[in-house]
Amino acid sequence: MNQHRLVKNPRSDWQQSLADVITNPNRLLEMLHLKPEQVDLCAIDSLKFPFRVPREYVARMRLGDPRDPLLLQILPTKQELSAMPGYSHDPLQEEKANKLPGLIHKYKGRVLLTIAGACAINCRYCFRQHFSYEDNNPGRAGWQKVVDYVAADPTINEIIFSGGDPLIAKDSLLAQIIERISKLPQIKRLRIHTRLPVVIPQRVTDELITLLINSGLQIIVVVHANHPNEIDASVEESLFVMRRAGITVLNQAVLLKNINDDPIVLAELSEKLFASGCLPYYLHTLDKVMGSAHFDVEISRAREIHWQLSQILPGYLVPKLVKEVPGVLSKVPINLDINF
Ligand SMILES: *Cc1c(COP(=O)(O)O)cnc(C)c1O
Ligand code: SF4
Repeated sequence: MNQHRLVKNPRSDWQQSLADVITNPNRLLEMLHLKPEQVDLCAIDSLKFPFRVPREYVARMRLGDPRDPLLLQILPTKQELSAMPGYSHDPLQEEKANKLPGLIHKYKGRVLLTIAGACAINCRYCFRQHFSYEDNNPGRAGWQKVVDYVAADPTINEIIFSGGDPLIAKDSLLAQIIERISKLPQIKRLRIHTRLPVVIPQRVTDELITLLINSGLQIIVVVHANHPNEIDASVEESLFVMRRAGITVLNQAVLLKNINDDPIVLAELSEKLFASGCLPYYLHTLDKVMGSAHFDVEISRAREIHWQLSQILPGYLVPKLVKEVPGVLSKVPINLDINF
């Protein structure tokens, strides 16, 4: 008799996928059966934030559609070259909170470790697109300093792995850091902010899950999907594998013009996430980073979309609509402004 496995996913080839990401937008257009004149592509040599997209993600884009919501998130267009008032290189002023290479300490009780300097995918709206990762790579000796900083502050009880995307790091690096922080008695939780389970879902290997679970810490993975089309069967599987292992899986999305600025689209996103064991957490308004103005949704429109969303979903499927205000020690909720 054949020994069928219900789900047969090759879950060891993520590094190959990372090596195979598409870095030439013209190649992407070919794959999608699009002609250059159908999109407003900018010259790629002018890009400081390179073009980069995994094949797994491209496979979820519609062929021949220049307005595909996944394509619009990653395609560098001429719009991003125009300077706009109010848009800057470091809108969150994170550089001030960058206490040591590899460590950002801005929020009470939580520190962010910038584990990796790059991502599998480069999202054109990303607020970290101008961040200098070269200056922020701690190296081996540096990681010890980061651990010492955390050890010296008993108020820190949660470590957040961020980046870049921390899951592009090899398990061996993650294991070294996790081993050191899990020995610190005040640390209760490890949170990982990553887009990899969405863009290269085979990154969620059994080995990774084991490494996380064996840390003895409570694990929270915050993924990032903006549109329901980003979630195919392999993404559902990667989210569900984490959920089954006892990991709390949350999603953050960014409200993006012409991509998900529609309550029906956001409702479908919440439904798909929850069907895979993932709860919607934050819906961020755009951080005003240079080159991203064409993604901005006005606050009044954002409120309206969020209100409509809350009218069609159970409360636990409605993400918190928030904005980031430099210097404020939490996300700032964008409250309704409706009088009944
Ligand atoms: C928002 C944010 C946090 C804190 O996240 P919460 O989920 O609000 O605790 C930490 N680090 C960075 C960089 C953030 O943007
Ligand atoms: S995956 Fe996240 S950090 Fe990386 S480019 Fe996209 S939004 Fe930015």
